[in-house]
Amino acid sequence: MAISFFKKSQNQLLKSDLKLSYNKNVNNPLILQAKISSIYSLTGTSYSGLVSTYIVWILHITDITSIDLIISFTLTFLLEIMTAVLILPRIDLFRETRPGEIRIIKLHDFRGGLTTGVLTLSRHSPFKSIIFVGDEDDSITRTIEAHELGHATEHHPIFLELSVIFLLSIIGPLIWFVGFGNIMNREVISIFLVIKTVLIILSVVIAILLFMRVAESRADAFAYKVIGKSAYENLVEALRRTYGENIKSPEDAPLVSKISHTSSRNAIKTGDPLSSIGIWEFPVVLSFIASTIAIIPFNSIGIIYPLLFVGTLVISFLIGLVSLPIVRKYYRMTERGSLNFSFLLAGIYMISSIIALDAYPNYT
Ligand SMILES: [Zn+2]
Repeated sequence: MAISFFKKSQNQLLKSDLKLSYNKNVNNPLILQAKISSIYSLTGTSYSGLVSTYIVWILHITDITSIDLIISFTLTFLLEIMTAVLILPRIDLFRETRPGEIRIIKLHDFRGGLTTGVLTLSRHSPFKSIIFVGDEDDSITRTIEAHELGHATEHHPIFLELSVIFLLSIIGPLIWFVGFGNIMNREVISIFLVIKTVLIILSVVIAILLFMRVAESRADAFAYKVIGKSAYENLVEALRRTYGENIKSPEDAPLVSKISHTSSRNAIKTGDPLSSIGIWEFPVVLSFIASTIAIIPFNSIGIIYPLLFVGTLVISFLIGLVSLPIVRKYYRMTERGSLNFSFLLAGIYMISSIIALDAYPNYT
């Protein structure tokens, strides 16, 4: 499955609308990122403020329930998506980028690479992507470019855009409601509801982190398919250029790099995107999400939450190990990759069963 996906991506890469342009301004990516994040924080704060003001001041709701929270999250999310789709494709370098195009901008003295993308309204394609790389013509820059093309062809920046908007639409209304309740004395919100929402926010944050690590590994595997065996050595050299001469392996890179990427960067050696992910990552993250979903119908959190977490962790490990022999037959890449894929399936299975249980209100 993974292999055919890569074949597809590579064909897309050959066929895709690539356009190269040269630009001397190294600050471009930073300015663009700063503009995008300020638009997110501005719209996130104002929309959630408007929605919670409407609920408290116009509808005169004094006791905030989970339904009020869900309505506020949904309204804020829809308003933010609408704004992002209308504004972001029109700012700065995105204005000159056609829908469906992967634009590569070569910058002088630029280390590493950066891919950004936004959703846009167009019949041609809903995506606009820009890749920033250095302008040197060597194998190291080509490896970085291949890695960034992996991100662009699989639309990782778009998934990130959607998940950041999703996260902001939960955080925004919660902050406004808690602020209203405490400072203005206009409404009350129960502490359990606040704790449960904070658990949901934490689950989304760690899910985004795991998604970023998988996306980085997929981009690494993509670079391996394009560049071949020398990709790993080129990556180490690229890290050396960015972080200094004493980098001997990806493990020596600073923590910022090792949180969003994986520390082994195995995927660029093996071509298997799941070979860089630690075996504890899927079970721990998916069990955290599963226990957060499982706690929602409960009226207390205290001891139940850690118990649920340990329980789901043990169960997902066991299901993952039991289904490993079957998964291995289909996955056919590295052993670590098969194990991780089996744990991923086990975690998804567990989360879906818990959602199914939650859907029956009187199952207790
Ligand atoms: Zn990357």
